[in-house]
Amino acid sequence: MNTYDWIVVGSGITGSALSYELTKKGLKVLVLDPNPILDGATRYSYGGLAYWSGTTELTRTLCQEGHQRHQILSHELRVNTQFRELDLILTLNPDSDPELIAQKYQAFATPPQFITVQEACELEPLLNPNGIGGAFTVRHGHVSPEHLNNGYIQGFKRLGGTQIFDQVLQISPIQNQAVQVTTHLDQYEAENLAICAGGLSRQLLKNAGILIPIYFTHTEVLETPPVDLKLKTIVMSAAMERFQLEAQSTQTELEPLWEKPGYELTPSIIDRSAVQLLDGRIRIGQPSRAFSDINPQVNLLESETFIRQEIAKILPPLANLPATCYHCLVAFSSDSLPLIGAIGDFNKIHIFSGFSNPLVFIPPLAQRFANTITGQPDVMISQLSPSRFIR
Ligand SMILES: Cc1cc2nc3c(=O)[nH]c(=O)nc-3n(C[C@H](O)[C@H](O)[C@H](O)COP(=O)(O)OP(=O)(O)OC[C@H]3O[C@@H](n4cnc5c(N)ncnc54)[C@H](O)[C@@H]3O)c2cc1C
Repeated sequence: MNTYDWIVVGSGITGSALSYELTKKGLKVLVLDPNPILDGATRYSYGGLAYWSGTTELTRTLCQEGHQRHQILSHELRVNTQFRELDLILTLNPDSDPELIAQKYQAFATPPQFITVQEACELEPLLNPNGIGGAFTVRHGHVSPEHLNNGYIQGFKRLGGTQIFDQVLQISPIQNQAVQVTTHLDQYEAENLAICAGGLSRQLLKNAGILIPIYFTHTEVLETPPVDLKLKTIVMSAAMERFQLEAQSTQTELEPLWEKPGYELTPSIIDRSAVQLLDGRIRIGQPSRAFSDINPQVNLLESETFIRQEIAKILPPLANLPATCYHCLVAFSSDSLPLIGAIGDFNKIHIFSGFSNPLVFIPPLAQRFANTITGQPDVMISQLSPSRFIR
């Protein structure tokens, strides 16, 4: 039996950052993931860093720490994460009331500012002036999610961490002293286990008899090959429909439906959005659905047609670019904050997932979590414990 201090399940951005920070503390860490090539939400992410969006002391502090950490990560990880700043354009539907949205934005540390249709088109010449009723704008951070993820994994391995490409099938606590995991190929034992399996975290824990309020949306995204067309900004919807979908689908009365296959918990949303990576690829999306199955039948052709129709309304030059449509799951919690820490009675099984502002929050929280493991209590980590949902 191979034994470790920590086993981390999943090597998307949550698992790779946490594995790196735990290894940096001198712990013996194994990260397990069946995919040698990134294929979860991190792979398809836009890479945006909303460090302007803190609304409480906790989230504002994390935004500041995340901003600072991203400025040094390329150096520390020895991989260029492509960190940069650019304008975020949050477009309004022609019939939306900018006043109402401006009021909601007042809670943010740096509220996005209203701009006219003409000003929006000056910032982003690809916008359709007839498809929007104005916009809000704010400076936004950006990284390449794949480079960041790869940087963490390379850093982890340089520090002596072990990466094995294998899927965890079963988790078995050993009398609250240790945890055993069974994979396709082997069995491993560790003093502690961290679940970083993104949208599959809920199902994996459920299979082990552990119920935890972590959820997932289904989403699709179009990705072009590198193209000559230049998108100068990141474009997203001002109404931030995704957060409404997360809040609505996790209302207490809907909880039992998450356990029944085949339920769509709330109507799907579309965030008409696009970003161009530094290598010229453009990611275009993004419908989200709160669907209770982890493996529903997804018609990628229909999704592609839908995304092309919707993006044509605000960014027409993007609608007919050659592109491939991908599907993935994105984890979230019911209060927009991640779940971090030991799960209820299972004091050796931890979760590090459910981030709503992940790329900003993960680097500082992975560090803080590793600090608590090695004996430095952290008020912030305590506030994010899954026990906050136990009534
Ligand atoms: C289109 C899109 C745009 C986005 N834009 C942004 C953005 O601009 N800014 C931002 O901050 N966030 C954004 N996000 C969200 C963010 O990218 C994700 O929340 C984040 O990448 C999730 O990371 P993760 O590690 O939780 O999950 P994932 O990246 O999905 O990784 C989970 C990993 O767990 C592995 N796994 C699952 N089950 C098992 C098992 N049984 N055994 C072993 N391994 C397992 C999977 O193979 C996978 O590699 C976006 C997401 C999408 C889809």
